[in-house]
Amino acid sequence: MCLSAISMMGCEPKKTSGEKTEEELRQYADELAHRFIITDGHIDVPYRLKEQNINIGPDNANVLVSTTEGDFDFDRARKGGLDAPFMSIYIPSEYQSQADMGKSLADSLINNVIAITENLPDKFALANSVEDVENNFKAGKISLPMGMENAAPFGNDLSNIKYFYDRGIRYATLTHGKDNQICDSSYDTTGTWGGLSDYGKQVVAEMNKIGIMVDISHVDDDTFYQVMEVAKAPCIASHSSCRFYTPGFERNMNDDMIKALAKNGGVIQINYGSSFLDSAVVNTNKERDARLKSLLSAEGVKESDEAAKSIIDQFNKENPKAYATLERVVDHIDHVVAIAGVDHVGIGSDYDGVGDSLPTGLKDVSTFPNLIYELLKRGYSEEDIEKVCSKNVFRVWSRVAEVAKELQAGS
Ligand SMILES: [Zn+2]
Repeated sequence: MCLSAISMMGCEPKKTSGEKTEEELRQYADELAHRFIITDGHIDVPYRLKEQNINIGPDNANVLVSTTEGDFDFDRARKGGLDAPFMSIYIPSEYQSQADMGKSLADSLINNVIAITENLPDKFALANSVEDVENNFKAGKISLPMGMENAAPFGNDLSNIKYFYDRGIRYATLTHGKDNQICDSSYDTTGTWGGLSDYGKQVVAEMNKIGIMVDISHVDDDTFYQVMEVAKAPCIASHSSCRFYTPGFERNMNDDMIKALAKNGGVIQINYGSSFLDSAVVNTNKERDARLKSLLSAEGVKESDEAAKSIIDQFNKENPKAYATLERVVDHIDHVVAIAGVDHVGIGSDYDGVGDSLPTGLKDVSTFPNLIYELLKRGYSEEDIEKVCSKNVFRVWSRVAEVAKELQAGS
């Protein structure tokens, strides 16, 4: 696994798991989770709040401090050592048919993130740069940088890119589940543009000039390769995993793409959704769903019927749903390390975005020490663990800001 791959690249990791007992290793993992800054490329808190009709204000801000809802709150993030979760400003593709392409939705989600920081100023703070994150970390606060998932709100006017930069957006996923005005989506077979549209090429150039990271999660393969050609700064995949473990699932990146992203200086941030991690789990659950369906039809009831409830409960008890594992998440990290090096992998959990499909051992934001424990067990050095936790993504974020300055100075 990673050990041989890393030593082949000439940076032998310090053995950290060595003689430690299981309990000592767990304590050490917990210590590192709190000593290092941990960033997560994609957490869907803003859209979860929208679906719950929660506009954060003085009376209800405590739902972000401690709650049993969802995968994220302050207490659990603190416990897990999570310091800089990128808040996803998610624009469903349905909004692409509206005149403003979801711009007003994007604004309202951004307003809600700002409201979190205004109502809980001792716990959360906005972050527009790596330096902001570092300062917030020193002040004991969790940073809430923002990324926009689906750049449809850029509309057909490049000046919107500066507008959203000024509102705090620091990465934008070019599209979501459908082709938009910028590019084609991995979930859409229409092939509207054969990759990036002409306007999409201008969008990438303008994002580089303004200083918004280009996120290639969700785009189709043609778009990805065209972005690699035109991008003047490193890119990220904010929440994608390795197609190696999910053959045929285009939403993930294949080995050639991961290598191309590494050449661009970019980072793939591993998505925790079970369907992103393990085809075997997907197939097991499909087969399980089919068995339940035929059981219900044999009993002459529909899934929504009251009479079906006890049958479903009994079935669930006897046939628990399958989940990917924490170990499989680290297999994905190992895989990127083996083919592209340890400088090009990070974490993009998709907490609050993938429903009841999170891997065992990583069910919410309190569990980052479990991930670090597994990395230690597999022989990752402190230095490499810190890269996975934040340094790699911060390198991209800083470089994107630098390139923007250079491009602005040159024009
Ligand atoms: Zn997504």
